[in-house]
Amino acid sequence: MSTDESVVDVLVLGGGHAGVDAAAAAARLGKRVVVVTLSKAGVGRLSCNPAVGGLAKGCLVREVDALGGVIGRAADRATIQFRRLNTRKGLAVQASRAQVDIHRYPAEALAALAGVTIVEAEAVGIVVEGQRCVGLRLADDTTIRARATVLTTGTFLGGVLHRGHRQDPGGRVGEKVSSRLSQSLAAHGIRLGRLKTGTPPRIHSGSMNLDALDVQADTVPLDRGRFSFTPRDRMLPQRDCWVGYTNAETHALIRGALAQSPLFSGAITGRGPRYCPSVEDKVTRFPDRERHQLFLEPEGLDTPRVYINGLSTSLPVEVQEQVVRSIRGLENAEVLQPGYAVEYDFADPRDLGADLQHKAVAGLFLAGQINGTTGYEEAAAQGLIAGASAAMGQPLHIGRDEGYIGVLIDDLITTGVGGEPYRM
Ligand code: FAD
Repeated sequence: MSTDESVVDVLVLGGGHAGVDAAAAAARLGKRVVVVTLSKAGVGRLSCNPAVGGLAKGCLVREVDALGGVIGRAADRATIQFRRLNTRKGLAVQASRAQVDIHRYPAEALAALAGVTIVEAEAVGIVVEGQRCVGLRLADDTTIRARATVLTTGTFLGGVLHRGHRQDPGGRVGEKVSSRLSQSLAAHGIRLGRLKTGTPPRIHSGSMNLDALDVQADTVPLDRGRFSFTPRDRMLPQRDCWVGYTNAETHALIRGALAQSPLFSGAITGRGPRYCPSVEDKVTRFPDRERHQLFLEPEGLDTPRVYINGLSTSLPVEVQEQVVRSIRGLENAEVLQPGYAVEYDFADPRDLGADLQHKAVAGLFLAGQINGTTGYEEAAAQGLIAGASAAMGQPLHIGRDEGYIGVLIDDLITTGVGGEPYRM
């Protein structure tokens, strides 16, 4: 596509959770929006577990929905289990969480972008004229010019995937890395740092011994479990999740392989999210714990893949198989995709204003994981603010006292991420 001659209103780089809500917000405000993304099939992809919500994150989803955003409605239409968390504790720590279908959620996100032009390409640089970003340069050397540009590149900037001593360039498993864009941002004075996050192995549902695992069913009546204020028009069949536990053998296997973990060998320098630790971290930090709880979560209705929530790891693949099979009920588990860690560049969010526009480069907005956060919900909330502000030409401002979105953005732009991925 050659758009050299035409200037779009809002150009969004990235079709992840920040990109989708940024583009949809700008389009709802009547603007001409173009999304540039490495893969159209990857729009709305759930890189880690297919689940939306949780403590504080569920509130973000509802606030985004109240502002007309995408994430809540897409999650509702793709929900295969809806739970209220912490129902035995006080109301202040209760939260809603939906397990969603890994294929239907992205389809809903893509459908919400009807009317937005999606360009499949790699952006390799921002185009800056007189301290103002006027668009993006693509790998084929064409330029898309825009009045405002929103970067939502997730974990792709300088991404390195780690499994044991093995390192591969990539934004997430099976996808390209975006390195030239990092260089362009640095050349224009954008301050970059390094962070990491990780994901657990996925196993085949047919290889689990369900009799040895505890079932975890819905806790909310079917008709009431939803995020959006707009009632959904259809509902998918619901699925149970399962609960299992690590044990002394699991912990011994992990301890014995720590020297091969990039987290402990020094191969990974970026810090990971404290409240989403790897199983290596858990076993090391809590040596007295006899077991750690694991949730076995189906990834969807038409896939045998099950996500082992709580077993995030970057140990070598062969060790991961032994670790998984040491768990009661998973003795014969078939690992379909090993866990891995990803290390990536982020931009210091203290350089942004409340509209998520860069203070030194006008017209350049940043939202999502590129700002050092982690999570689909944090990304969607920032995307909505950046996309709406870019479209209006003035900040869509939510105060700390008005919403969780206000707390999120105020924290980011005033105190930054404090050296580890920020999550609500
Ligand atoms: P993404 O959803 O990553 O989307 C980025 C988009 O940018 C993609 O569409 C990509 O194609 C596009 N893009 C990037 N560079 C370019 C380029 N140069 N040109 C064109 N397009 C480009 N979150 C949690 O809450 N808990 C977890 O435990 C957790 N673990 C994770 C583990 C892994 C391995 C990964 C990869 C992510 C994990 N996450 C986790 C994070 C979660 O996936 C992200 O927070 C969320 O997806 C961020 O949304 P985003 O829109 O910022 O970026």
